[in-house]
Amino acid sequence: MREAVAAALSRGAREGRSTAVLLVGPERPGGAALDDFDELMRRSVLRDDPVGRVGEELAAVLHIRSVDNAEAVARRIAVAGPARIGIAVAAPGEYGADDLLRRAALALQEARSRPDGAPWACYEPASVVAGPLAGQLREAVGKGELRLLYQPIVALPDGDLAGVEALVRWAHPERGTLEPDAFVPLAERIGVIGDLGRWVLEEASTRAALWQRRLPALQLNVNVSPRQLDDDGFAAQVLAILERTGFFPGNLVLEVTEGAVIGERASLAQLAVLSNAGIRIALDDFGTGYSSLRYLARLPVDVLKLDRGFVAELDGTSRGGAVAQAVLRLGQILHLDTVAEGVESEAQARELTLLGCHKAQGFHFARPLTASELQRWLPAGDLSRYESEVWGPEV
Ligand code: C2E
Ligand code: CA
Ligand code: CA
Repeated sequence: MREAVAAALSRGAREGRSTAVLLVGPERPGGAALDDFDELMRRSVLRDDPVGRVGEELAAVLHIRSVDNAEAVARRIAVAGPARIGIAVAAPGEYGADDLLRRAALALQEARSRPDGAPWACYEPASVVAGPLAGQLREAVGKGELRLLYQPIVALPDGDLAGVEALVRWAHPERGTLEPDAFVPLAERIGVIGDLGRWVLEEASTRAALWQRRLPALQLNVNVSPRQLDDDGFAAQVLAILERTGFFPGNLVLEVTEGAVIGERASLAQLAVLSNAGIRIALDDFGTGYSSLRYLARLPVDVLKLDRGFVAELDGTSRGGAVAQAVLRLGQILHLDTVAEGVESEAQARELTLLGCHKAQGFHFARPLTASELQRWLPAGDLSRYESEVWGPEV
């Protein structure tokens, strides 16, 4: 395996790709060997990804786009049995094989020392998980430092407001406003994402319940991290929040990434409960995942969000639009709602309309807006008269 890791690392360095090692072992060192895991691991990775023994444990070597990809594979392995998994990732040219394997072993140790958390751990330098930002993030939710922006999602071709996607920001006391890329991955690693996600849903559904009085069909999209779906209580929490805020489940869309749901029994069970309650599920960043199309028809999915990378490739030629067209066609065949992300120009909006895309989101229509900026997108009019028409006269 050491040689397979070394070969993968030099290929990664050549092709500018990151390399991950997953080290899989029993819950305790020296515990019962993981017999069927050989086969299971082979099925969890791509055909050419090496799988083999490293001492007592099993290892797999992957080329990945982001740590999410490696975690998606770990999650797939973990649902199959009582394993613990250590993950170590090397950026192109970052580590040698011995270093990477040693880091994976440290991560496995960490995964084994967690009493009830996720059964895998990613190797992190201590400075990241114990640094000042991590400490502040643990308190940010309680201190009321999080904010939400809302980006309009419009119907094509007329551009009418169909919904909004809630996007979180952290109003950091010293560093100013932080974008989610700067703290959501950290929140996932240090176990704060559950609190953060609950706050986002509560805040967004409270607002959207008010906006719905002016636009009853308004949809609210909320992002859900794969880590949140690992929590068995997730679906129940979502339903309780909707009950409290008076937001209608049929107007909520939860955005999950492919990696979070494909082949994961635990998160599928959560999604099935939510789906049965009328909540719709969107596959976010569709087309970029480390996953297989094979599962799509079997998932409780209602919406495909075409990744903005494919929208950026639209240039009026059939080659430029090839992936967008394929994804939109797939959506049509499976009767899914389709939303294009990152639409930045009129030309892109026109081409997406021609390809049959239902909805769009992007700077061409609107940037993420504050709640009060969004009000201006709602139909004006006499709210009280409107309310009496919709809800009947007050008694
Ligand atoms: P995403 O779900 O793909 O969200 C869309 C991102 O694209 C947003 O970035 C938005 O500002 C950006 N965007 C919108 N229109 C355009 C455009 O025309 N061009 C370009 N280049 N970008 C555009 P943002 O707000 O920085 O969010 C980044 C990511 O953070 C989101 O990606 C989502 O994965 C995550 N995120 C945001 N809010 C939450 C949250 O409440 N919970 C979780 N778990 N993740 C969140
Ligand atoms: Ca999203
Ligand atoms: Ca997206």
